Amino acid sequence: MQRELIDGVPVLWTETPGPLEATLVFGCGVRDETFRTLGVTHLVEHLAMSTLPRLHFDHNASVDLSLTQFTCTGRPEQVTDFLERVCRALSALPLDRIEREAGVLEAEGSGVADPTTAELLSIRYGTEGVGLASFGGPGPDRIPVEAVQDTVARYFHAQNAALVLTGPPPAGLRLPLPTGERPARGAGQPVRQAGPGWQQVQVPGPGLAVSCDLNDQALFLAFQLLRQRLTETVRHREGLTYDVGGDVVFVAPGRGERTICMEAREGQEQRVAELLWQEAVRLATEEVSEAELAEEVEGAREVLLDPRAAEYELLEAAAEQVLDDAPMRGRDRLERIEALTPARLREAFAAALGSALLVVPCEVEIRPRWTDGTELPQSSCGVGGELPSGGQEFRPPMKDRLRYSGARKVRLVVTGEGIWMRQPDGSVHAIPFAEVVGVEMQGPGRVVYGAGNCFLPVLPDLFAGIGPAVAAIDAAVPAGLRYPASAFRSAD
Ligand SMILES: [Zn+2]
Repeated sequence: MQRELIDGVPVLWTETPGPLEATLVFGCGVRDETFRTLGVTHLVEHLAMSTLPRLHFDHNASVDLSLTQFTCTGRPEQVTDFLERVCRALSALPLDRIEREAGVLEAEGSGVADPTTAELLSIRYGTEGVGLASFGGPGPDRIPVEAVQDTVARYFHAQNAALVLTGPPPAGLRLPLPTGERPARGAGQPVRQAGPGWQQVQVPGPGLAVSCDLNDQALFLAFQLLRQRLTETVRHREGLTYDVGGDVVFVAPGRGERTICMEAREGQEQRVAELLWQEAVRLATEEVSEAELAEEVEGAREVLLDPRAAEYELLEAAAEQVLDDAPMRGRDRLERIEALTPARLREAFAAALGSALLVVPCEVEIRPRWTDGTELPQSSCGVGGELPSGGQEFRPPMKDRLRYSGARKVRLVVTGEGIWMRQPDGSVHAIPFAEVVGVEMQGPGRVVYGAGNCFLPVLPDLFAGIGPAVAAIDAAVPAGLRYPASAFRSAD
C-alpha cells in the first residue's frame, strides 16, 4: 500500500487491474449527529452531489453510521474532475437547495444499518451516537440550516478525510478542501443497557448483540462459528430461515458491537428466537470440537489471504485514518486465529455473552435461560417503580376510562424535573427534562423523545386537559429541541 499527501489529505493506493476507482472518505456519519439533527450528514452529501453536472461514468455517494464516502470509477481525468468538483462543492454548499434535497431524502428513505442491528444499538446506547441507527428523527424537512453549516465545518475538511485509489494518483490531482480541526474521537459513548437481557421490540426477526473488543480474534471466530451453526440448524435442518446475517459496528477505537440478525419464516419467529439463544448458550458452555475449529480457521485463511481483499484493506485503512481506529489486519490476524484453541474460543464467547442483548419481535413470548439455568431478565425502556408525588397529574379522557380498564391505570405526571407516564400494562416510563433529545409539536400536543430510547406522547387524544402539561414541557425544554412535526409525515 502506497501513501502520499495531496492538499493535506492522505491518499492510500495500490495498483489493481481494471479502471481507476476512487473513494473519498470522511469521518462523519449518523453517529456524529443528534436526534434533533438526524439526517444532516446525508443532506450534506446530497447537497454536494447536487452540484455535479451529468457525468458519463459511475459515481455515487453514501452515508453510514461512521463514514461518508464519495466514489467514482473512470479514466484518470474523469476521476480528477469528479474529486475536484466534490471538494469544491463541500467548500461552498448550495444551501438554497436544502428544501428540494430534503424532499429527495424523504423519498429515498433512511436505514444506515440492518433494522435488527439498529434496534439492538438503540437499546444498548439510547437515542445518541450509534444508538440513533433505528430512528427517523424529526424528518429531513426539519433539519436546521445551522446544523448543515456546523456539520460541514466540523467534519468535511482535509483533516478528517482520506482518499483511496486503485492506481497511482493522476497527475494534477487536487483535493481543494477547507482545512479544519481533527474531531476528537474519545473513549466512545456510555452504555444504557449493559446486558445481559432480552426485549420485545419491532424487529423483522430475532437478533443478538454483544459489546466487545473488535480485535479479539477468538470472538471473531466464535461469531463465525455461531453463524455457521445457526445456518445448519435453522436453515438446513429446520428450514425456518433464509439468511443468518450479522454486523460489526465500530463504536470507539477497538470497541464495538457484534450482532447476529435472523430472518424467520412467517409464524416461526418464536422457534427461531429459541434456537438463536440456545445455540449462543451452547457455544458459551460446551467446548467446540477440534474439527469444527479447524474448519472455521480454514475459512478465515481463505478470506484473509484472498488477493481481492487488497481493495477492501485500502478502505479499511482509510476508515482507520479518519476514525483513529487500529484494527488488526491480514497476516497479524491470521497468526492469532491459527493459535486459537477450543477452550479459548468458548471462554471468549462466554465472557462476551455477559453483555448479550437479545431482541425478539413483539408478539414472541420466550423464556430464555442464562448459562446457569436462571431466567434472563427482560428489559424495557421503562424505569419501573412508582409515579412521583407532588407533580401535576393527567388522566385519559373520561370516555376512555369508562370503556377501557387499561385506560384507568394510565397517568401522566409532570414535575419540575421531567415527565412520567404509566402505561396500561402498569409499566412506568420517565424522561428527565435534562435528557430530552427532541419534542415534536403536533398541534396542541407534544411527543417527547428522551436519550434513553423512550418517547412519551403528551397528546389530547390520550390525556384530558393537557394544556398545563404542554406549557410545562415548552418552558423546560430549550427551543432548539422543539420542532413542528414533519410535513412529510401524517401525525399518527
Ligand atoms: Zn419507555
